[in-house]
Amino acid sequence: MSETFKVTESGQAAGRIRELIRRIAVEVFGTTETEVPIPGFTIFTDRRLDDPLAGIRAALLMRSVAEGQLYDYARTARAAGRSWDEIGAVLSLPTGGVPVGEAAFDWLVCGRVPDPEREGIRSFRTPSAFWRCSTCGKQVTDDGPFESHPTDNETGHADTCTRHRADVAAWAQRTGWTD
Ligand SMILES: [Zn+2]
Repeated sequence: MSETFKVTESGQAAGRIRELIRRIAVEVFGTTETEVPIPGFTIFTDRRLDDPLAGIRAALLMRSVAEGQLYDYARTARAAGRSWDEIGAVLSLPTGGVPVGEAAFDWLVCGRVPDPEREGIRSFRTPSAFWRCSTCGKQVTDDGPFESHPTDNETGHADTCTRHRADVAAWAQRTGWTD
């Protein structure tokens, strides 16, 4: 089996997991879904959850089950004679700093999630979230709910965006400030 084939296979598996999370959101957390056209395609559609919070609930459930499985399979692997170093290698834990076997035990048994910053691995996470506003249709840069004024947290809404204007009006109401 070639590396490329394996990458394609795990990509397909990831797609099936996303599909499963969406089904759980609908069947367990009670949302509905809507078919939306995929830009550039006339026959293919994508499905979107009408309540994205149900998607978060389903993904969270999936994550806690998956974490439980990591622990269960690590114990099964130890029982079968595999070492913590072998388990750490499968987990792709960084080899700098503590030995991978210790890092694997720390994570799966002690619950200490490896810290990529501490290990000197560059984080690919950006400090902002990006999404398209469903009210004004513009791409928004979301720096998190850390500042008081909505415009300091979210940039990119259209000047006429009623959602953003309502956020600013609510802020003015809350603080008693005008700008
Ligand atoms: Zn907007």
